[in-house]
Parts: sequence; structure tokens; C-alpha cells
Amino acid sequence: MIEFLYRHPEGYIEASSLLFDVLLIIFTALQTRNGQVKIFRRLLYLSTVLTLCEVISTSWMKDLPATKFSFYAINLANTMVYLCTCLIGYWLANYFAETFRVRWPFFIEYLRNTLLFFYMLVLLLNIQTGCISLYRYDTGEYVHGRMFFPVGNGIPLFFFACALIVFFKTFPQMKGKMRLSMCCVMGLTVAGAIVQPLFNDKVSITGLFASLAIALLYFSIETRDYNELHVATEKLKKARENALTANEAKSTFLENMSHEVRTPLNAILGLNELVIKESRDEKTREYAKDMLTAGQTLLSVISDVLDVSLVESGKLEIEDRKYHFSNALRACKVIIGARAEKKNLDFRVNVDETLPDVLSGDEGRIRQVMINLLNNAVKYTEHGRVELEVQGDTQGDMLHLTIAVSDTGIGIKEEDRQKLFQSYERFDRAKNRKVEGTGLGLSIVHQIIEKMGGTIDVKSAYGVGSTFTVRIAQRVLDSVTIEEYRQQKTGYQKPPYIIRIPSAKLLIVDDNEMNLKVAKGLLRNSGAEIFLANGGEEALRILETEKFDLVFMDSFMPVVDGTEVLHIVREDRNHLNYHTPMAVVTADALSDSREKYMKVGFDGYISKPMRAEKLYKMIEKLMSEDKLIKEELL
Ligand code: ADP
Repeated sequence: MIEFLYRHPEGYIEASSLLFDVLLIIFTALQTRNGQVKIFRRLLYLSTVLTLCEVISTSWMKDLPATKFSFYAINLANTMVYLCTCLIGYWLANYFAETFRVRWPFFIEYLRNTLLFFYMLVLLLNIQTGCISLYRYDTGEYVHGRMFFPVGNGIPLFFFACALIVFFKTFPQMKGKMRLSMCCVMGLTVAGAIVQPLFNDKVSITGLFASLAIALLYFSIETRDYNELHVATEKLKKARENALTANEAKSTFLENMSHEVRTPLNAILGLNELVIKESRDEKTREYAKDMLTAGQTLLSVISDVLDVSLVESGKLEIEDRKYHFSNALRACKVIIGARAEKKNLDFRVNVDETLPDVLSGDEGRIRQVMINLLNNAVKYTEHGRVELEVQGDTQGDMLHLTIAVSDTGIGIKEEDRQKLFQSYERFDRAKNRKVEGTGLGLSIVHQIIEKMGGTIDVKSAYGVGSTFTVRIAQRVLDSVTIEEYRQQKTGYQKPPYIIRIPSAKLLIVDDNEMNLKVAKGLLRNSGAEIFLANGGEEALRILETEKFDLVFMDSFMPVVDGTEVLHIVREDRNHLNYHTPMAVVTADALSDSREKYMKVGFDGYISKPMRAEKLYKMIEKLMSEDKLIKEELL
């Protein structure tokens, strides 16, 4: 055996591919599969027979003594090589057509079958006449007949060409990696058939290439696991796409919904402010104050929902602007102080006043984090103390802040702590039945802090209390400390005053009648002449005929929105109101909206809800000095 192998190195390739084919046959017999099982089996058996005949015709038979039997045997094997190659081309085309459900035109099918029949006849003749190729024992070589190229190789190439056409037709139906493997299958079989004649029957490679191609077919289309994996991956991809689209739709819905709810709610709160200010009936004012509290709670729930949708859609942005840290601390003291007092809690604020005060970052979001944590501390504490402790460490121009909020409240169980920062999670429902909440606050806090590059940890003993510690870094812009800033402020504080603008003309533009009413009511005491425009078009008409000293412009309006009105006025140098300052009033709550509106050319920015103090501050900022009267309050 070894000696035989030594004598015929030209048969090594085909002998190994024969072994490979046999293994593949065993393999396929043991597996349950899908795909075109019948045609695949045919291809596999054909490739095995082809390889076997190649081994016989190129090496083994040549050793036999030159008898009639050996002559017919070697030439039969040689003819079988041609037949099998041709049939592989034929069935490969059928395999692609069946797998990807492509129908042959009738005449092509007819032509293929006729040519196959003709080819078989010629092959039969070949054994006798050698019209294609015949082995001769006297010269020890294959001698090619006249039909070697036109029929012997031409017809198999025609079948491979048909297979190629079907392959290209079905190519668009193939997905991802299947395209690559099918290209290899086609490349290998066609290359095997084309290259073989060039070796002039000295070495056979058609069988090897066919075996490799069939193995590829087996692993890419035929194997159930692979196929199922492919189908499952496709399904997962589709499901992911659907989930992303649904999530995007949800985020857009939440954004729109919170905007839609915020607008009438702001109007309600604004009108309520007027009732509190103007009503003389104590009872009515009490009711209005309760309405204010309820409305503010509703507004904060809506803000949380909006924040969650911003986080989910990746639109949560962190501003980087100059701010005074002490202002954020003061807001916490005022808001939380009042809530703690209502519950008879001891509220302590312990801030290292030597920390720098002028920082760069997102004051609004830092406030939101502290107020959220402090609010929870008050909500979940019945007796005892709530404490805010702020420490810091300055390194270079960075201040590493540690903000700790602790309470002596109900505490959080160990097992709940893992889920604390997930949206909509609320714990201890039985105990917290009366505590209002949505389970969104901590999840938003967590996202904001992550976005700022900081961390948050919780320490809690169930029934004893909790401490939430936030660590964030902020850039220091000035060396003034919190203490110095506080002293400066108290030192220079002016006595409070009210602003009056009796000779001024104001225009308020909003598509919501209620908002117009609120704004007009809030500005009534200013003494100004107030014009109202219900929408952008009406605003443009009024702006054409009246000269104003200040315009408050809603941003989102149908037909002509606030920014368009601004552009139309500013584009015309001769416009009556070309120089009139315009402040945008918007419910657009994204963190970069101030920059956005200032960039498009507005002179001021007011976020909704409209409040008297915001409007008056804007008047003070934008109104020309000669129209402004400050009446000091003694
Ligand atoms: P909620 O609107 O319910 O307060 P949060 O996301 O702020 O939502 O908090 C999630 C849950 O974590 C709360 O429902 C509460 O069970 C628990 N929790 C938060 N802060 C505290 C605290 N300081 N003490 C005890 N439990 C807390």
C-alpha cells in the first residue's frame, strides 16, 4: 500500500479528497438536516464517484498489465470522470434553482436535458472510439480525440455556465455571509472544471475542488444548526430593529406628550398665580395655593417623564456654562427647607465654605440631582434628620466635589439596593403607600451623574437611614470661595424694587389663548401697553404697523413659528421693529435650547412655565433705560 502510494504521488490529492468525501457521507448520514437534501446527496455521491474514478484513472489502473480488461476498466473510469463532472454542473444549477426557488424557462430545460443525453451518448462512443480521450497502454498516456475540447469540456462548461447564471440570479436573495460561501462554492467547482484540462490528465483536481465546494454547501446551507442560527440571527436583527423603532416612537411620543401637557398646565399655574395675587378671599387663596402645590408636583412628574425619554433617546445633554455653586445650594436650602419644616424634620446643611464658588458645568442638572436626593430623603423620613453635606478637593483647575445626602428614614433593604437606579422601581410599597412617586427620580439622577462622568453610591441600614453620596468633578473658573461670594452678595445687596414701564409697548405672541391671558395678567402691574398676537401670522401683521419696545415670542406655533417671525423682521433693515428686542418664551426644555435660540438671534430666553419674576427680569435686561422705572420697596 505504502509502496503504491510512493509510486503514484499524482494521486495524493484525489486520494485525500476521496477520504474527505467518505467522511462527509458518514457525517451527513448521522445528521438530521434541511435544505435540498436529495440534490445535495446526489452532488455528494457524484463528487465521491468522480474522485474515486480520478484515483483509478490517473494512478492505480496504470499499474495493471495491458490486458483488454484493464484497457476497458481504465477508460471506463476516465469516461466516468467526464460524466460526473458534467452531472455536477447540471445538478449544481438545479440545487441553486430549488434552494432559491427559481424556475427554468422551458426551452433551457429542454436544451439542458437534450445536451446531457447527447453527452452520455458521446461518452459511450468514447470508450470504443476515443473521440474525447483514451488511455493507451503502449505510450502510457491519454490521447485526446477531436471532440475533447468542443464536447468533452464544452458541454460540462455549458452546465457550469447555467449554474453560474442561476447563481447570479439568486445572489440578491442570499444574505450576508451566505453570499461569500456561495461565491466560494461556485468559484471552486467552476475553477475545478476549467483548470483540469490544463493539467493534461497528469494530476486530477476536479474531484478535490468539487469535494471542497460540497463541504462548503454542507456547512452553509445544509447544516440545520447553521441554517437555524442564520434564521435566528435574521429574526433577532429584525426584532432589534422593531424594538428600536418602537422605542424611538415611544420617546418621541413622550416628548410630544410632555410638551402638550406642559403647555395647558403652565397656563393653569399662571392663572393660579394671578388668583393667589389678586383674590381677596382667604379661602379662595388657600385653595389656589393647594392647586399650586398639586400643579407643581404634576409638572415635576412630567419633567421626569421627559427626562427619561431624553435619556432613552440619547438626547440628554449636559451644559458646560459658568455658574455659582452657592446659587444651587441656596435653591436646595429654600425648597427642601420648606418641605422638611412641614414634616418637622431637622434639615441640616453642612457645606465647606472654603470651596471655590465659580464653576463651569450644568447648574440646572446639579440642582436637579441634589433636590431629587434631598426630596427623597424628606419623603422617606418620618422622624429625625435630613442632612446635606458638601466637601471638595481642588486639584489643578478641577474641583472634585463630594455631595452626601443622608437621612434617618426607612432605609433600603440590601436586595433592593441593586435595583435602586432602574426606571419605575419602587420599594417597600406597603410602607410607602402614601408617599407619592414614580420610581423615575433615582434612575434620572444616575444617568445625569454618569453623563457628567461622576459616580453615586448608597449606604443604607434598613429601618435606620440612608446616605447617597455623589462624586463629580467641575472645572473651577475663579478662586472666589463660597464664603467670599456670600459676603460679597450680602454686602452689596440692593433693597428690593419693583419695575414699571408705563410708557412702553409690549407684544406677547402665543398660539395658546390661555398663555396670552396669563402673560397679560402677570404683566398688568407693569403699566405697559400690552398687545396680544394669537400666532405668528397675526404677530407679523401687528409688527408691521406698531413699534414695540419688547416682544415676548412663543417658539412653537403652527404655520409661522417664533423663529420665522424673528427672521422675517430681522431680514428687513427698514422694518418698523428691526431694532426691537425679542425674547423667546419656550417649553423646549432641552439643555442646549438657550444656546440654540440665542444663536438664531433672539435677545433673551425664557423657559415655560411663565412666571412674573422671569418676565420682569427679562424686561429689566432688554428694555431701554429711559422706559424703565424702578420703584424701590422700603
Ligand atoms: P420615587 O419617585 O418612587 O421616589 P426614586 O427613583 O426617586 O422614585 O426612588 C426609587 C425608590 O427608591 C423609591 O420608591 C424608594 O422605595 C427608594 N428610595 C429612594 N430614596 C430613598 C431614601 N432616601 N430612603 C429610603 N428609600 C428610598
